[in-house]
Amino acid sequence: MQYRQIIERIYDELKDYTGHGKVAGYIPALSKVNPHSFGITVATLDGEIFSAGDSGGRFTIQSISKVFTLAMVSRHMGNRLWEIVGREPSGTAFNSLIQLEQEKGIPRNPFINAGALVITDRLMTLYDDPKKDLLTFVRELSGNSGLDYDKEVALSEIEHSYRNLALANFVKSFGNIHNDPQELINTYCHQCSISMNTEELAKSFLFLASGGVIPSSGQRVCGTRSSKRLNALMLTCGLYNESGDFAYRVGLPGKSGVGGGVVAVIPGRLAIAVWSPELNSNGNSYRGIEALERFTTYLGVSVF
Ligand code: GLN
Repeated sequence: MQYRQIIERIYDELKDYTGHGKVAGYIPALSKVNPHSFGITVATLDGEIFSAGDSGGRFTIQSISKVFTLAMVSRHMGNRLWEIVGREPSGTAFNSLIQLEQEKGIPRNPFINAGALVITDRLMTLYDDPKKDLLTFVRELSGNSGLDYDKEVALSEIEHSYRNLALANFVKSFGNIHNDPQELINTYCHQCSISMNTEELAKSFLFLASGGVIPSSGQRVCGTRSSKRLNALMLTCGLYNESGDFAYRVGLPGKSGVGGGVVAVIPGRLAIAVWSPELNSNGNSYRGIEALERFTTYLGVSVF
């Protein structure tokens, strides 16, 4: 009951809070979205769902998908993962090239684009049918077997992937990407185009609120230590150069995407997803972050 009241209050307070940012324009298909869309969903470990606003509207999850690919790859690689990618905040934009040369093609963390490309590269090597296997994984997490890629957004991003292709080629020059860069971009742009609503997104992050188990099915996705580590990476790196500010304001592990989604986890309790497509200068949904800040403030609970 308390959750319902809180998210309805937040929805009401923020429903007209628009015009302070821009939808992602560098992926042409993304710029077609209604900038004023606004949905919130809380999914609890007890199986309750509380939503406000446009919680049924689908959007592409973009960089939020990096948590799913990381979970799939770390399952196979264990600690060897840290030979190919770091686990420190970068303090740079999500698509920056700046640290890569000095750090010899080992990206600072798995959530900046360079790091995510390395992870997706290993996904392609480790799994028979990476695009299908990723979809199967996300369908299991969300409990919705109908989830799919948004082909229009995927193709639009592939066509305009100059920067990500540059990152992939650069990292490959250091030997830290094994597959063909163009094929890698194809897989990466598909993962970013997974289309979900806030209800599906909140549900699919519940495994990180429950120590690695999908609460609705009891299926174990990863160990408790791995779940702790994924949450820690989200807290320190999940919002790129805004991760410190997000931790300060919201106080939860979180992950954002340029589709306007932001998801956060209260371990032991719930996951919450917000969708609002206008982005701030860091490429994060400013209203999404504002909503999450109010959520932990009104609830009086965070990881701190
Ligand atoms: N598909 C986007 C890109 O690679 C994802 C970035 C993001 O959501 N921050 O540019």
